[in-house]
Amino acid sequence: MMTKSVDATNPARIAGWGQRVLAGGEISRNEALGLFQLENTADIFDLLSWANRIREHFKGNKIHLCSIVNAKAGACSENCSFCAQSSFHQTGSPRYGFVDPEPVAEAADEANQNGVTAVGLVAAWKGLNEGPMLDEVCDRVRELKTGGKTRPDVSLGIIKSQRVADRLKEAGVECYGHNLESSRRFFSKTCTTHTYDDRLETISHLKRAGIKICSGGIIGMGETREDRCDLAFALREIGANVVPINILNPIKGTPFENNPPLPVMEILKTIACFRFILPRQEIMIAGGRTVNLRDAQSMIFMAGASALMVGNYLTTLNQPVERDLQMLKDLGLDPSWDKHGFSDQEETGCGCGKTGCEAEVVAV
Ligand code: SF4
Repeated sequence: MMTKSVDATNPARIAGWGQRVLAGGEISRNEALGLFQLENTADIFDLLSWANRIREHFKGNKIHLCSIVNAKAGACSENCSFCAQSSFHQTGSPRYGFVDPEPVAEAADEANQNGVTAVGLVAAWKGLNEGPMLDEVCDRVRELKTGGKTRPDVSLGIIKSQRVADRLKEAGVECYGHNLESSRRFFSKTCTTHTYDDRLETISHLKRAGIKICSGGIIGMGETREDRCDLAFALREIGANVVPINILNPIKGTPFENNPPLPVMEILKTIACFRFILPRQEIMIAGGRTVNLRDAQSMIFMAGASALMVGNYLTTLNQPVERDLQMLKDLGLDPSWDKHGFSDQEETGCGCGKTGCEAEVVAV
């Protein structure tokens, strides 16, 4: 029988870094790489346990729920290799123009009934400029905002002008989804029709407008552990508020259609490493959850996830939202989040704002 060699110093090392993060400190890139490289299942379970502790410390038992509406589908001018909606790939995914008010209102109703905090309008296009389309987008956002049933988030691609970001803010956008997708090093393997720097520039316009940033990436595209590690540090650097981790669901007709799936323990370990690097952020498990994790889905919270994309994804199905809500209930987790905002990401003391907190206990 093959056994993996055990490094007896790993548990103490993981605990030391975990205690440092709980006490408000940070781990270095080299230390984080050490976590990403863990192979032994016993070590990975140690890591998950500390990631769970960090999540509980900074997030309590709250889980933030988001859903999305595909507000403009298919025929996208960009060539993202993972995406069914690119006009470069033959995938048979639906195509339609910008969404009318009714389906958005229905999505807001459904979100409200299920305790979902935010509905994101997601458009398959390169980006948004000033003009009639921006007017229409702002109308949809205002309708969602005045309806008061859910927070109107958007994900509308690349923004080249500060004025566009400012107008979205005026319309009521609080949070904008714009993934970095992977490390700067790996980005050109995912897309060549726009650049990593285009994405960073968009994020800087949004931040200047006072819009919160939802930015993460996709794992399982063929990137290395080092790429995943560098993505997490880049997200820390840009000050992402919500960090969606998508797990590639290879779509027939895309360049990544034959990518092998990541092992479940590798996915859980990645989530845990992100929690160590991004202790205060909402780490949200998004696309590819059901197909890649199957019966291990509930372990994402033990790995440090604090948010969940519920309902169907842009081009693939998710498990029914009732099942997700039952999973949270069974785990003693609370999805009621309406008053939350992003205040728990501000640093006070160790970062959690609690007196007599666990960090004071474990750091001694
Ligand atoms: S990920 Fe977005 S920008 Fe890239 S092809 Fe898909 S819809 Fe277009």
